Amino acid sequence: MEELCMHEHFDLIIVGAGPAGLTAAIYARRAGRSVLVLERSSIGGQIASAPKVENYPGFSAISGAELAERLYTQAEDLGARIELETVTSIVPGPAHTITTDYGTYTAAAVILATGTVHRALGLPGEDTLSGISYCAVCDGAFYQGRDVAVCGGGSSALQESLFLSDLCRHVTLIHRRQEFRGDPILLEALQTRSNVTILPDTRITALESRNSTLTGLLLEHAASGTQSHLDVDGLFVAVGQQPDTTLSQALGIAGEDGYIPAGEDCRTPIGGIFTAGDCRTKDVRQLTTACADGASAALAACQWCTRQSREV
Ligand code: NAP
Repeated sequence: MEELCMHEHFDLIIVGAGPAGLTAAIYARRAGRSVLVLERSSIGGQIASAPKVENYPGFSAISGAELAERLYTQAEDLGARIELETVTSIVPGPAHTITTDYGTYTAAAVILATGTVHRALGLPGEDTLSGISYCAVCDGAFYQGRDVAVCGGGSSALQESLFLSDLCRHVTLIHRRQEFRGDPILLEALQTRSNVTILPDTRITALESRNSTLTGLLLEHAASGTQSHLDVDGLFVAVGQQPDTTLSQALGIAGEDGYIPAGEDCRTPIGGIFTAGDCRTKDVRQLTTACADGASAALAACQWCTRQSREV
């Protein structure tokens, strides 16, 4: 005899509680849909660890943690259920089945708003030595009054260097090219700091350690090939992000570069499965574009739910 198994059902399940996922939750709740948001680690995603956000309209400056908290509160106050659970599988169907490390749910529509994860340098020892971090806001306090390096040339590296220069004795920013792709305003601010050295055209070629703790970096100048050594107590790696393809690959919707191909309507080739935010193929990955995706995906998902209910 077939076992009858009833799982808790939602109109919409959103995977990821970053700005895209929480915006989607806000829009879907305002449209009267039942919403479950599933997040495996931190509410707010990457933005939660941004030292300062200065390009979100309406706020001239706000900490990433406060913005994340506001988004969370707004979604929850509107009635979205938000759970810290890791989604382990999604099985598409007339009702999609979503399994987590805690239980199983069904939903008429799913939005994948899984964002990106930090990219590593790929140097031997990077994942085992202590003294290496990917988040200045999370770990910067451990390096108060000490010497650190930041690697990267984007806005994250510039922002983390600024944040660390308020805490640390000295900050060395190491970037592999001459030109920085990060926000020029951040670079100008960094150039005025007396305890910051900027090393462009420079690669980190090895990590030096004692007793499993980072003690220094071997550097190579890109043009001349000159080698040098830098003593540091900590290294903050800020060399960009890459999509986490665990779920999208299993669903067969990940593109070659790992991002999920979808247009502005955020629809994937699977009916009722949408994608929003940094995990979607797009030209501009910003907080504002993640929120815009969240709104588009939620409205498309709500339309899908309406059509599905008419067909039943
Ligand atoms: P990003 O803009 O992609 O920059 C990554 C940086 O890391 C690039 O400079 C890149 O060098 C370098 N890099 C990549 N792989 C490397 C490797 N193996 N070794 C050494 N260097 C490497 O990433 P992001 O800074 O994390 O920013 C991500 C997005 O968030 C961007 O759209 C950014 O604008 C946005 N963001 C905005 C703000 C803000 O305040 N406006 C703050 C943070 C982030 P190349 O330049 O040579 O490729």
